[in-house]
Amino acid sequence: MKRVYNFSAGPSMLPEWVLNRASEEMLDYKGSGMSVMEMSHRSKAFASIIENAETSLRKLMNIPESYSVLFLQGGASTQFAMVPMNFMCKYKSADYINTGSWSKKAMTEAKLFGNVNVIASSEDKKFSYIPENYTISKDIDYVHITGNNTIEGTRFTTLPDTGDVPLVADYSSSILSEEIDVTKFGLIYAGAQKNMGPAGLTVVIIRNDLLGKHFENTPSMLRYDVQAKGKSLYNTPPCYSIYIAGLVFEWLLQLGGVKAMEKINMEKAEILYSALEESKLFTSPVNKKDRSLMNIPFMAPTDELNKKFISEAEVMGLTTLGGHASVGGLRASIYNAMPIDGVKKLAEFIRKFEKENI
Ligand SMILES: *Cc1c(COP(=O)(O)O)cnc(C)c1O
Repeated sequence: MKRVYNFSAGPSMLPEWVLNRASEEMLDYKGSGMSVMEMSHRSKAFASIIENAETSLRKLMNIPESYSVLFLQGGASTQFAMVPMNFMCKYKSADYINTGSWSKKAMTEAKLFGNVNVIASSEDKKFSYIPENYTISKDIDYVHITGNNTIEGTRFTTLPDTGDVPLVADYSSSILSEEIDVTKFGLIYAGAQKNMGPAGLTVVIIRNDLLGKHFENTPSMLRYDVQAKGKSLYNTPPCYSIYIAGLVFEWLLQLGGVKAMEKINMEKAEILYSALEESKLFTSPVNKKDRSLMNIPFMAPTDELNKKFISEAEVMGLTTLGGHASVGGLRASIYNAMPIDGVKKLAEFIRKFEKENI
């Protein structure tokens, strides 16, 4: 068996402990005589899988009882529409901070339901920083941010002060990577395929007083109150993905929780960023203060060298290092499940490649 260090932005690596456990339980989940994939979502066994997943996530993120945890489908992209459908009803207006491609996609969907105020944007400098000076508008339903910008490699380190206005955040690419204070948010959403499990599953954490404020014609599946009331079992949920996410949560708890993970992530990011800072060949386009811990874009001076880097790295078992199609260059995504050894190997390879090509 050969395993590589996969630097993909998503879907991405899962902890080997999780994959091994899933493999052991594949044909016979805890004496049930069946796989979790074959199991009724109304069975006792599955009830405990989904309840345990929720309990673990609540522990990991310190989620108070005043918030609901939902396991939904459709990826973060469905949340781009679900958020305005459920929240934009009163003023039909919301503030968005535009920090990259995913913010823009979120805004495109919100515009279908109301007015979108772009109160700040870093598009003037190719989204290489997080804007700091902005004023929250009056008479709006919510403020939306993209907590970590997967493509551009930036992250919010200080949150906007929105007062009584609910703050909504897309944390798809950094959930569980560092501690966040859930009580600062009205709603947090994240696709699972970066730090939690298989693609398709989407986790939503919503403050309970925000349930039931949807537009009247919102379909049941897209209503947070319906999903919360049904405890994510209004219809057949993505059972197997929830099971895997539950194992990922268990793995994180064993490791010492989000605080311990954050420390490791800081260390991993530091290894790569210092390799890039020392480099005379590679550059990082991102404002130092706003750097992501999860997604690290960098580049050699020419496309030819970028391509050469990708193919030589591949041979070393360091895969999927191309930048997003929209920005080019290189990108290393080093999510929770990327072992520190993978990051060290990449930093070594960066130094070796530089010596050979400068
Ligand atoms: C990956 C990603 C998305 C899209 O997720 P899907 O599950 O493919 O819809 C949205 N926002 C951010 C920040 C992402 O990283």
